[in-house]
Amino acid sequence: MISLPSFFKPQHILWLSWTSVLLFLAACVQLQESGRSVFLVTTPEQEASMGAESFAQLKAGGKISGDPVTNSQVQRVAQNLIRQVNVPNANWEVVVFDDPTPNAFALPGGKIGVHTGILPLTQNDAGLAAVLGHELAHVTLRHGGQRFSQQSGIMLGYSALGIALANEEYKTRQLWQTAAGIGSQVFLTLPFSRSHEYEADRYGMTYMARAGYDPQEAINFWKRMEAASNQPGSKPPEWLSTHPADSNRIKQLQDLLPQAQAEYQRARL
Ligand SMILES: [Zn+2]
Repeated sequence: MISLPSFFKPQHILWLSWTSVLLFLAACVQLQESGRSVFLVTTPEQEASMGAESFAQLKAGGKISGDPVTNSQVQRVAQNLIRQVNVPNANWEVVVFDDPTPNAFALPGGKIGVHTGILPLTQNDAGLAAVLGHELAHVTLRHGGQRFSQQSGIMLGYSALGIALANEEYKTRQLWQTAAGIGSQVFLTLPFSRSHEYEADRYGMTYMARAGYDPQEAINFWKRMEAASNQPGSKPPEWLSTHPADSNRIKQLQDLLPQAQAEYQRARL
């Protein structure tokens, strides 16, 4: 049994419970892309601003590829995919980083980075469309904002508890500034949850099919990722540390394939 400190009164628990319920209800937003109701304490504009800030840091600290062939391939495929989605506040920017680690990432507001090291695994335009479609889906489904909101929710909960115990004045503004300060760290360091990964796979496959890329190539790409991670003695690709290539992942895409193939055939007419 948990014993509460003597200064913790029952009315504090009641107050905290009500505050949590109200905060949760107030922050439930229906997403335009999926129709699902999700927990978001940020607006798309706030997310975009934090995403842009993080992206600027990454560009300043990384080496941007000057290779015209690679750049034109990535931009061509990315633009074909971007045309399939509607994110009103997005300021799309796709940058190729000269980095041998196989990686790709997306930040809120339409900032996407591709490492040159992932290209041997994507192999062709359709393989690249599988990776970019997945990253684009993280943006359209506001996964960064949701991750940030969960972290802020936890932090707000702790702060509310501290305030309830200490009976101090609630400094919302100060708290919000702290939350915004950790925003870029959340986007850069925390991986998306497994359910967000599966969701990004589903939407990504639909986007690539609508853009005219054979969705079968998404499955082929994931099989190459799985093989690369199982090679004895080799370090698994960096993307795999946040995007595990498990059999469920491939199975989900195989289940979705007939529907995606129908979208692909329509796009080719
Ligand atoms: Zn992902």
